Amino acid sequence: MATTDDTTQTHLVILGATGSIGRQAVEVLPCVPHVRLVGLAAHSNTALVLEQAAATGAGLVALHEPGAADEAAARADVGLAGDALRVYAGDPGVAELIHDAAEGARAAGASLTVLNGIVGAAGLRATLAALECGATLALANKESMVAGGPFVIAAARASGARVIPVDSEHSALFQCLAAGGAGAGGGAASAGATAQRPAPRADVEELLLTGSGGPFRTATDDELAQATPEQALAHPTWSMGPKITVDSATLMNKGLEVIEAHYLFGVPYERISVLLNPQSVVHSMVRFGDGAVLAHLGAPDMRVPIAYALGYPQVRPTLPMVRRLDFFAGDLTFAKPAIERFRCLKLAIEAGKKAAIVETEAGCASGVCFEAPASAGSASRAAAGPAAPPRPPAAPRTVAAPIVLNAANEVAVHAFLEGRLAFMRIAEVVEKCLTWLGDEPVESLDDVFACDAEARRFAVEAAGGPRADIPTGADT
Ligand code: NAD
Ligand code: MG
Repeated sequence: MATTDDTTQTHLVILGATGSIGRQAVEVLPCVPHVRLVGLAAHSNTALVLEQAAATGAGLVALHEPGAADEAAARADVGLAGDALRVYAGDPGVAELIHDAAEGARAAGASLTVLNGIVGAAGLRATLAALECGATLALANKESMVAGGPFVIAAARASGARVIPVDSEHSALFQCLAAGGAGAGGGAASAGATAQRPAPRADVEELLLTGSGGPFRTATDDELAQATPEQALAHPTWSMGPKITVDSATLMNKGLEVIEAHYLFGVPYERISVLLNPQSVVHSMVRFGDGAVLAHLGAPDMRVPIAYALGYPQVRPTLPMVRRLDFFAGDLTFAKPAIERFRCLKLAIEAGKKAAIVETEAGCASGVCFEAPASAGSASRAAAGPAAPPRPPAAPRTVAAPIVLNAANEVAVHAFLEGRLAFMRIAEVVEKCLTWLGDEPVESLDDVFACDAEARRFAVEAAGGPRADIPTGADT
């Protein structure tokens, strides 16, 4: 049972509060009573954010669009938006809100969790701001890990902040790794926290990342060529925001998730496999060195991984509203993804591997949830004597491929949703941009943001652009 004792209280900020993840996070709050919502951020939906603030008592609100922030501030001024509401504007506003929430938590003797449910690489600055404050980052915004992986890991390691995955597959992997004894998720590089666990040390042979295959899993080539936004948005098993739903249809979502898994768990790409489970019942699995496979099963419902991340490490919340799995209701099947037809998945894995070669050469740290698990068959480590003392992580250095992949995909998906680009051309746009820009060296955060912006310009051109409003996030 959760405690409301002030010493264990967690303050919470929800970013992307008006979206699919954000709304479900607000919904599960009563199931995590030690968590107190203090702040909300969204793009421009002032009415919903103020409604959420009034319903939960959150006193800090950020709106990305300045006009929306002005409207919220005006309502707060005349007492129409609850007591003492503080309003922040723009990207800097989100970072300021996080800093103020961190100060507030410190003063109250509470910990701070920031749930990042912003869509797109627009969430990267917020991810970094949360980690710099030492807040626990509950990460739904996979694009910030894809675009900024080595820099996100460096920020977490520098402050000792903990990253808890919210993406359902990564939440499943996190739990399977912990259950199998691969480490204790005790914060970046926190050897102490890892050592406290009495679990045996385990060899991780393979991460098995599952996916439904999306609405076009069994479509013919003709059907794929004619695919409409309405068809792409009709996901067979999950209900999500529009961008990730289209990513699920192209399998780019699975590709982004492979990269996310590599950075979160420090497992090399060669030991991360994708397999389809069309029922979305197996949320992912880990194969250990003894051949045993641990899996996480359940109904496809994002409230489960969201509540898990918010409750961690105090409590695994009870969620009576989540449908219980009926093992006799249907078959559980598995299939290989058609990687040549769904080219986005292939492009993503190649982009991740390209970056990993440079990052490994540069000595960059990888793995932020756990110490990097041992490779298969490394039981011979013991015979080889004690491991060398760990080297301090090097300054992040990589290449632009994952940044370009993500940015070009955001532009192409936006164009597809507006009816300006055919479904099969999404992969084409991404591939062109990767050819043009994927090898650019990246040595700083400024480089990350410059590559992201450049890739968006190229992608607009490749998609048959020109358009003024290059997408940086949803407008809910
Ligand atoms: P969504 O489109 O439903 O919501 C996006 C939210 O981000 C909205 O609240 C929007 O106002 C906000 N936003 C956009 N740009 C912003 C900015 N610059 N500053 C502040 N807020 C901004 O998207 P979603 O489906 O909730 O997905 C959010 C993230 O979670 C994505 O990265 C997605 O890949 C990931 N994710 C979602 C699901 C899901 O079930 N929806 C599952 C796993 C992972
Ligand atoms: Mg997922």
